[in-house]
Amino acid sequence: MIIIMKPAHTDDQLREAIEKVEALGAAPHIIHGDTHITISVIGETKHIGPEDFAGLLGIERVVRISKPYKLAARAAKPEGTKIRIGNLTIGTGGFLVMAGPCSVESEEQTLRIARAVKERGAHVLRGGAFKPRSSPYAFQGLGDEGLQILAKAREETGLPVISEALDMQGLELVAKYADIIQIGARNMQNFPLLKALGKLNKPILLKRGMSATIEEWLMSAEYILSGGNDKVMLCERGIRSFDTQYSRNSLDLNAVPILKTLTHLPVIVDPSHGTGFRHLVSPMALAGMAAGADGIIVEVHDRPDEALSDGPQALLPSDFETLMKKVTNMAPILGVEMQASSKPKKNVA
Ligand code: PEP
Ligand code: MN
Repeated sequence: MIIIMKPAHTDDQLREAIEKVEALGAAPHIIHGDTHITISVIGETKHIGPEDFAGLLGIERVVRISKPYKLAARAAKPEGTKIRIGNLTIGTGGFLVMAGPCSVESEEQTLRIARAVKERGAHVLRGGAFKPRSSPYAFQGLGDEGLQILAKAREETGLPVISEALDMQGLELVAKYADIIQIGARNMQNFPLLKALGKLNKPILLKRGMSATIEEWLMSAEYILSGGNDKVMLCERGIRSFDTQYSRNSLDLNAVPILKTLTHLPVIVDPSHGTGFRHLVSPMALAGMAAGADGIIVEVHDRPDEALSDGPQALLPSDFETLMKKVTNMAPILGVEMQASSKPKKNVA
């Protein structure tokens, strides 16, 4: 159950509503939306009904939420979550493009690619410093050094950076350097890690587990939200299916409009991991945009044959440039704005 306060409620009225929830034996969780403050009633709520709040002033509406995810449910924040990073507003502020290499391999490689994606209109630089690899013999990432390289790239290009935290030990370090913490598919149900993320005041990109249902995914988001961190984005990155001959995963674009009805959290599509092959990335990025995603995250590498991870799915800068032109052209047709800083700073020859 959620209690939506009137925009003009007083502090006393909010306090009375909170005290009423506590008196009924449930826990109030306050959500600060842009237009409304909402109190989510958490815990044993079967015996509680909207009538319990009938005599209180300052309340606009009381709504029952039957879903197990209470804070992530659309009704908890009908206007949608907005996540602000610098001059970006993710969620309702325009279509967002995150781009960069799969892995931070060296300072030179990262700065080269950061400049390339910035010039072509990316809003956020991606790059993994801690890599979740299927093989223990594969490149595991540069760790701390990789994060410092990303910070340098941010300083030079002005792009905020997103990087993956693999475990509790690395989380503090990633939180120190990255503007957005990525939680990878393999960690979507790492509950201790999700609880730790709930304590941070940092945007989180929560990727879908490779065989996770939408409800399991939303419950993982609920872990972070219920800890007190409301800056969560969901990222569809493909699910395991039976045919891996022509695509690495099956990008589940059904999930995009489904999530848009179920939750207020921003939805990002990752067509790079969703497909695994360069020639599939741009078509599926555009399809994700058409499906209603708030943004995309794509891997870009200028020397994909030398990439230490995910070279076959990396777009070349020229592919990325073409994709950005298509995204920009498609936006008005879909009635979608681009993020404000999407215009390239320099003209690209
Ligand atoms: C990545 O973004 O490089 C990555 C490892 O993603 P995922 O967790 O979706 O496999
Ligand atoms: Mn990758």
